[in-house]
Amino acid sequence: MHGSGVPRAVPLPPRCGAAVGHRPLAAADRFCHRAPVNRARRITVTGLVHGVGFREFARRHARELGVAGWVRNSEDGTVSLHAEGPAGALETFTALLERGPPGARVSAVALADARVEGHEQFAIRGVNAGVFVVREHAASTRHFDLRLEVDGAMRSWALPKGPTLDPAVKRLALAVADHALDEGMDEDARAIVWDRGGYEQGGRVPWPAALDRGHAVFVLHGRKLRGGFALQRTGAGAQWLLVKRRDEEARPGSDIVAAEPASVISGRTLDALLAGS
Ligand code: MN
Repeated sequence: MHGSGVPRAVPLPPRCGAAVGHRPLAAADRFCHRAPVNRARRITVTGLVHGVGFREFARRHARELGVAGWVRNSEDGTVSLHAEGPAGALETFTALLERGPPGARVSAVALADARVEGHEQFAIRGVNAGVFVVREHAASTRHFDLRLEVDGAMRSWALPKGPTLDPAVKRLALAVADHALDEGMDEDARAIVWDRGGYEQGGRVPWPAALDRGHAVFVLHGRKLRGGFALQRTGAGAQWLLVKRRDEEARPGSDIVAAEPASVISGRTLDALLAGS
């Protein structure tokens, strides 16, 4: 009851105080209920930490705690992590890493503050997600086919100019229908396998949602194409851009299609194949 007619002062949590009374109710409500501020840290775990289920242990606890980021085995025998979430969850997560799963022997956990990157999952990095293939194909126009194995099908793009290792160059990639896993993966009378290998999913968003949302980051382990790449949809249609990410496998100023035209299977170029030699 408001018998006095005088608005009653309602105590509010400090974060909400500035909003109420100055904004419409909906806006104030959003302000008061927004997610807690996230923190991020890079973590390096040393000890007997490979081959003991450490990455699965980290992923399971991260998901339980609402921590996002990634974990990967490093070549030096350590486990590296990027973890972001509420400060309390990060503390709990770090304490769990100091213990590790049964069978692990953790000798040290090193922490460094990091930038919050906006991860939407906690992923195990550095694991194979499937195969990729790049064919050079003489159809009505010459082009390259890029195919990535995703959920039992080959997601496919046509690249008019092919891929590049130069991060400054964006290459047009036109999405085409998915192919079956065993369809058009080999050489034929009109196509060579220009490169192939395994790939890792990357980025902040789980796959295939990342592709559905039009921005997918991945790491290729081919003979010619190596390191991080991104496929970015440019609009509502089939048009995407394929971009090499700036990493140790980038080759600024290079033209890998011109420099290494031959098939990784037969050693023949598409010109030689078409000439019947
Ligand atoms: Mn094609």
